[in-house]
Amino acid sequence: MHRFFVQEPLTETITLCGDDVKHITRVLRLSVGDIVTLCDGNGSECEAKIKVVTKDAVTCTCQPSRPCQSEPPVSVTLFQGLPKTGKMETIIQKSVELGVRSVAPMLTRYCVVQPKESFSGRIERWQRISEEAAKQSRRGIIPQILPLVRLEQIEFSAFDLALLAYENERTTSLKKALKGFSGKQIAILIGPEGGFSEEEVTLLIQKGARSVSLGKRILRTETAGMAMLAQILYEVES
Ligand code: SAM
Repeated sequence: MHRFFVQEPLTETITLCGDDVKHITRVLRLSVGDIVTLCDGNGSECEAKIKVVTKDAVTCTCQPSRPCQSEPPVSVTLFQGLPKTGKMETIIQKSVELGVRSVAPMLTRYCVVQPKESFSGRIERWQRISEEAAKQSRRGIIPQILPLVRLEQIEFSAFDLALLAYENERTTSLKKALKGFSGKQIAILIGPEGGFSEEEVTLLIQKGARSVSLGKRILRTETAGMAMLAQILYEVES
C-alpha cells in the first residue's frame, strides 16, 4: 500500500497537500475510494480512504491509528566518515532501508572531502533521500540527517553503547560487544575511505566507544556501515 508521511497527529480526517497531491493524483493515479497508509513520522500509522480530491489537496478519512510494526527495537545513529562525492547518497538510502534512526556525516583526519563552505544544502538533499527511502521501505519514522560533526566534537553520553568499527581490532567482534546488551540507543562509527588514524581511535575509546572488528576482510566505507547495521539488527530483532 502507498505510504505518506504527515506532519500532524493521525486524526479522523486528514488533508494532504503539496507534492503528495501531485504524487497521488498524477503519478499513482489514485482517486476517491482508494486506500493509502498515513504515517505520523513518530512510529504510528493508519489506513486512510481517499474522500475528496482537488487540484491542491487530497482529503482522507482515517481508521484508528496503530503502532508501526517496521521500527527496530534499538535506535541506531550512524556516524559516517564523509566519503567521496556521491557515496553518501547510497549510504543514506541503504541505511534507512535497513533501519537506521539517524545519520551524522562526520569529518575525520583522512576524509578526502574537507568541505569549507556551508553544508546545509547537502543535508537538505540527503534528508529528502532519507524520506524517499523511508516511504519505500515502509518505515514508521523519517530518519534524520544530522549536521556535519567533527570527530573530536562527538560525545556519547546520550548513547547506551558506542561501537567504533576498526579493521585493526583483533580481540572484540561485533557479536561479542553486543552480548547481553539490553539498552536502546546505539552509536556506530565508520571511517572514511582512508580509515581512522590511531589518534582518532584512541580518542574515541577514551570517550567511551568500544572498538569492534567486522571480520577478517577490509570492507569499503560504504559497505562497512551496512554490514554493521544488518548484524546489529540481526542480533536484537526477533
Ligand atoms: N584504510 C584502511 C585500510 O586500507 O586498511 C581501510 C579503511 S575502510 C575502507 C573504511 C572504514 O570501514 C574503516 O575505517 C572502518 O570503520 C570500516 N571497516 C572496514 N573493514 C572493517 C573491518 N573488517 N572491521 C572493522 N571495521 C572495518
